[in-house]
Amino acid sequence: MISAPAYDLEKVRADFPILSEEVRGHRIAYLDNAASSQKPRAVLDAVDHVYETGYANIHRGVHVLSERATEHYERSRRRMAKFIGAQSADEVIFVRGTTEGLNLVASSLGRYALGEGDEVLLTGMEHHSNIVPWQMVADLTGAKVVAAPVTDRGELDMDAFAALLNDRTRIVSVVHVSNALGTVNPVEEISRLARERGAYLVLDGAQAAPHLKLDVQRLGCDFYCLSGHKMYGPSGIGVLWGKKRLLEAIPPYQGGGEMIRTVSFERTTYAEPPAKFEAGTPNIAGPAGLAAAADYLDGLGIPEVAGHEARVREYAESRLSEVPGLRVVGTAREKAAVVSFVVDGVHPHDLGTVLDQEGVAVRTGHHCTQPLMERFGVPATARASFGLYNTEAEVDRLAAGLRTALEIFRP
Ligand code: PMP
Repeated sequence: MISAPAYDLEKVRADFPILSEEVRGHRIAYLDNAASSQKPRAVLDAVDHVYETGYANIHRGVHVLSERATEHYERSRRRMAKFIGAQSADEVIFVRGTTEGLNLVASSLGRYALGEGDEVLLTGMEHHSNIVPWQMVADLTGAKVVAAPVTDRGELDMDAFAALLNDRTRIVSVVHVSNALGTVNPVEEISRLARERGAYLVLDGAQAAPHLKLDVQRLGCDFYCLSGHKMYGPSGIGVLWGKKRLLEAIPPYQGGGEMIRTVSFERTTYAEPPAKFEAGTPNIAGPAGLAAAADYLDGLGIPEVAGHEARVREYAESRLSEVPGLRVVGTAREKAAVVSFVVDGVHPHDLGTVLDQEGVAVRTGHHCTQPLMERFGVPATARASFGLYNTEAEVDRLAAGLRTALEIFRP
């Protein structure tokens, strides 16, 4: 038995309408939170509230509904600044999610900071969204993308990382928590090393935001990205945080309405951040849902959520170790709520299909981390990833489903 969480788990589960859905004749056991998490009623209501009481285009209208919509939007920006420990709400840019945040930084910081022969240092456990945008800007600028190796446990090899940092390293961009392995990277140490070399530090916080108490100033990074949909908020909204002086210095990402001060055919001048990076009509209601998700997480207490998830993960690791031929991929000492695994003789997709028949949702595939899969010599893994509402009983169903798969594929 795992010990009880610091909050009432049944009450919390009742906050998430979808968790009482039946799929394939079973109550859903949703263990795919690293891909996207489910939404509490408070988030759904917050989005509805904007549409029902204060919806119009923002920042432009002189009329009441536009003022209300703008107030919802800007209040949410202030809430997210507090959630991540930003010094000012002007440092919070609303983006579609981590992918857009990383593309924005790669494009804008890349064009500002990179030249021929400069290096961008990544790690071997990056999500494709923290690899491909850097390759794209490297092609434009003549810079080179370098990746620090990962150990057999799935930790960043810090000696190799430190050795790869050199005077040509202008940007370091690292995943805070790995989506494929669950590894929590030592980002404060990484930040110290990057600062010593005068390199900018970008952190991909897509998997950190739902599990770790964030304080971007203490982390010592220059940019931080997160996705709302992985932290119980809506999809299509996320945050890019950047240090104010850097947001002022780097060029804009997209051009269009709202990001300008003046436009003429001869010369355009840009608005101050964050408007400079928010061209066009944004996701107007999404930020209110994201702010409600931040309230929800802080209401339970992120350390309490993390404590509960750690207990569920450890219970899962112990139950899965009883499954013959199962190997966990990624056994870092610091881990978030992910268990990636392979089973001898059964393809991960087959495991996922059998589990789905039992109403258990897991992810199978390369998890958008093909270089990492190659490092571990597997084409894919099955991944169970836990959220604040998961239970020991759901882990038991996962273990039982895997035994059913073994009976089918390895009779
Ligand atoms: N980085 C990591 C570590 C992720 O897990 C993900 C989502 N799987 C992303 C980046 C991309 O996030 P999004 O799809 O929300 O833009």
